[in-house]
This record gives sequence, structure tokens and C-alpha cells, in this order.
Amino acid sequence: MQQAEIGLIGLGVMGANLSLNIAEKGNRIAVFNRTFARTQEFMAEAGDLADRIVPCETIEQFVASIRPPRPIIIMIKAGEPVDQQMELLKPYLEKGDIMIDAGNANFRDTVRRFDWLKDTGLTFIGMGVSGGEEGARHGPSIMVGGTEESWKRVEPVLTSISAKFNNDPCVAWLGPDGAGHFVKTIHNGIEYADMQMIAEIYGILRDGLGRSATEIGTMFGSWNKGRLNSYLIEITEKVLMAADPESGKPMVDMILDKAGQKGTGKWSVIEAQQMGIPATAIEAAVAARSLSSMKAEREVAEKMFGKETARFELAGGNVEADLELALFAAKIAAYAQGFAVMSGASEEFSWNLPMPTIAKIWRAGCIIRSQFLDEITRAFTANPDAANLIVTPAFSVMVKESLPSLRRVVAAAVTAGLPVPALASALTYFDAYRQARGSANLIQAQRDFFGAHGFDRIDGKDFHHGPWGSGAATF
Ligand code: NAP
Repeated sequence: MQQAEIGLIGLGVMGANLSLNIAEKGNRIAVFNRTFARTQEFMAEAGDLADRIVPCETIEQFVASIRPPRPIIIMIKAGEPVDQQMELLKPYLEKGDIMIDAGNANFRDTVRRFDWLKDTGLTFIGMGVSGGEEGARHGPSIMVGGTEESWKRVEPVLTSISAKFNNDPCVAWLGPDGAGHFVKTIHNGIEYADMQMIAEIYGILRDGLGRSATEIGTMFGSWNKGRLNSYLIEITEKVLMAADPESGKPMVDMILDKAGQKGTGKWSVIEAQQMGIPATAIEAAVAARSLSSMKAEREVAEKMFGKETARFELAGGNVEADLELALFAAKIAAYAQGFAVMSGASEEFSWNLPMPTIAKIWRAGCIIRSQFLDEITRAFTANPDAANLIVTPAFSVMVKESLPSLRRVVAAAVTAGLPVPALASALTYFDAYRQARGSANLIQAQRDFFGAHGFDRIDGKDFHHGPWGSGAATF
């Protein structure tokens, strides 16, 4: 029998859809799942595509069904299970075979797994896949990290299954070992910020302006035709327009306000902090999800302090236009921060991450896909060495145009007692970033006072400590 071009382990939501996508694009694929009953169920649902799928009951049979050097996608529960699966698989593989972890791994685990296989003749790819169930089935955005040689082996299959933006495939080799999973992590960090900012605008409209879910949904629908056009705005409209079949009320009004999180947002923040790169909007978004989960404490606090929410009043301007532009300005800050973190990591780990390519493969297939990413692609292509997205010529114009709206919206929300942590942190990021002389001179003086940490002087003179001791001159 003709051997399969690729193998896949793990027929859960993502693995099953990815396998059907691979088969649909004309590739022969071998599949294996820990529980064979699931494999049988999957084959029964595969329809005509079953002809190109080889269902395997044992690992031995699975490995023998794939053409060497064998690329094997592992799409199972992240963490420990991946290590267990790799241990089980390893004895059956031969020199040149490639294990590919396509789950949401921490890139530090990916580097460790890559090193574990380094001297065995086997190799490892850490592959970020974004787009959820729908993306896996019809075209995800794929971020690959590993050796160039192993990438060459999988490139044709991955190119065939990836999403396309104007015929450009949304898949790329981004660098060695953990590069792909790191980029996927930051993708998710940006996604957290994007979602939080949208939710804050929704909160202003609901609590500060008394708009109904459908009124807000209609507004998001119109914004989706403009500069905010994106998958997240599109689904926000759909979510807000949906009715609960049980109560007949807007579905969103029936959902408990506790946001879940699986870890990629937190990892983005940890890595940004490790490198000393500010990612304030992403940090605010992760913290906001944590605060949202403290429902019982928030209920007690509301009884104690009252809601203190006043009507949202903008000083001049058109409310809807200002909210749209404010969201756009804040979005620029979040993306600028995410790209700055990737730029820092590229240097720290000698990855040489290609920023225009990253923006390019996020234009379709993934959760943060948008027209906006095409503009980021163009900005980084024209200015590959830009220190920050917001100082590229095209984005500096957009920031100047939209920042006044963000300022008005944040000011009005703060006055009304409406929480806008991500929007506010985006605003203060801009304000701090463009301030040539900030207030850290005082911090340096304090540090020197209590810890003799020293400071640099603005006149360049060689006195690095202040006159803090008793008897020193004072005003
Ligand atoms: P899922 O539906 O929960 O499927 C889990 C799969 O993992 C099943 O095939 C299960 O096999 C297998 N599994 C669990 N523990 C195992 C072990 N110890 N050894 C071998 N197999 C094991 O998960 P999913 O949503 O497809 O997610 C898979 C990966 O993709 C995760 O890393 C996830 O974070 C990532 N991801 C998910 C999404 C999404 O939207 N869902 C998007 C991007 C990335 P059994 O059938 O035998 O239990």
C-alpha cells in the first residue's frame, strides 16, 4: 500500500480537523489516537476523505505507514502528555524522522524537547497552530520552529493546508527550536489584549451609555466595515446579536462574567518581564481575566463600596466615532508591544525572527487575523529596523490621528468609574514612550539615597552619588 506523506497523533478537536484538512488537500495521512475507539469514530465521520486516511491501532503500524523521513504531528493535550507520547514514539523511529508538537506548548519546553532529541538522529519541530477548530479544518495560520532541513520536509504539506491571504500561504519557518511556539505565544498575548479592549468598549456602551446587546452588536457590525475590520470584531457582532434559546434574552447577557485562561497570555507577560520589555496592554488583559474570575470577592466589594458608575460623558466629539478610534489606537499599542517582545526574544535567543513574515502569516487563518496586519506587514517591510511599530511613518500618522480619541474615552471612563485597564495602559504606554524626559530621575535619586545604587548625570560629569548625608546642602 502507498505510504502516507505525514502522520498525526491525537484525534481530539484540533487533530481530527487538521487530519481532514490534510487529506482534503490531496495528502495521504496516517492517524493514531491513544484510544482506538476514537480513531474508529473519526474514520466513520471522514466520508470520502477516508480513502486518503490510514487509521492505525498500534504505534508500530502507524510508524510503518509513513514515508521516511517521517513527519509526525503530535496534537494532544499540552504539557506532560506530550513528553509521554514522545517517549512512547521514540523507539519506533529512525534517523531523520521528525516529531512535531503542534499543541500550545511553552517554548521553553519546546527547546528542552528539541535538545532531548538532538543527538539521537531524530529531530523536533515546535509548531504553533492558530485558528481554532474552523482554522484547523479549512486553513490555519502556522508558525514553525526547527531546523531548516526538517522544515523543507514538511513545507509542501503545511503550505497546502494553511490559510491563504491573497494567495499567500499563512505558514512560515520562523527560526530554530522554540521560535514557532514563542511567536504563537505572543500571538495569543496580543489576542488577550485585543479581546479585553473590545470587552472594555462593550462595557462602556452597556454600563455607561445603557445600550442593549443588539444595539452594541449593530455598532460592531458597522465598525467591521472600517479600519477595525477583523475576525474578532466580526465574531463580537455575531455574539452580541445571538439570542439565548432558553430565555429568549441576548445570549451574552446570560453568560457569567468570569473569563477562563489556559496560560499563553500569562507566558507572554512572564517572557516580556524576563526581558524587561513593556507589554502593558497584554499585562492588563491577563490581570483583567484574573480579576474577572474573583466573582465572589467582586460581589462583596460592590455591596461595600457601591457601583459608583456614572453616565459616560465625552468632552466633545461623536461618541461612536471616538470609541471606534480609541479602540484602534489601543490596538496599535497592543500590537506594537507584542512585536517589541518578539524583537527582544529574537535578540535574546539569536532567532533572527522575521517581523514582516510574522505579520504576513497572521493576516489570515488565525484568531487575530485582520486587514490591520497587512498594514503592519507593509510597515515592517519598509522599515525592518524600526525600534517600535509606532515610530514607523505609516503608524505614527495613525497614532497621531487616533490618540486624542483614546485620551477622551479613557478620561470619560475613569470619571464615570468604568474599568478600562487595557485601554488606559495603552494610553499611558504612548504617553510614556513619547516623553523624552520622564520622572525616573527621582527613582534613581531614591535608589541612590537608600542603597547607594548611583546614577548618571544629565551633564555627563563624573559624580554618581547624591549629597544625601547629614550636613549636606539643602534648599
Ligand atoms: P482535545 O480535543 O481535548 O483532545 C485531546 C487529545 O489528546 C485526544 O486525542 C486525547 O486522546 C489526547 N491525549 C490526552 N492525553 C494524552 C496522553 N497522555 N497521551 C496521548 N494522548 C493524549 O484537545 P484539542 O482542543 O484538540 O487541543 C490539542 C492541542 O491543541 C492542545 O495543546 C491545545 O492547547 C492546542 N490548541 C487548541 C486549540 C483549540 O481551539 N482547541 C487551538 C490551538 C491550539 P484520547 O482520545 O485517548 O483521550
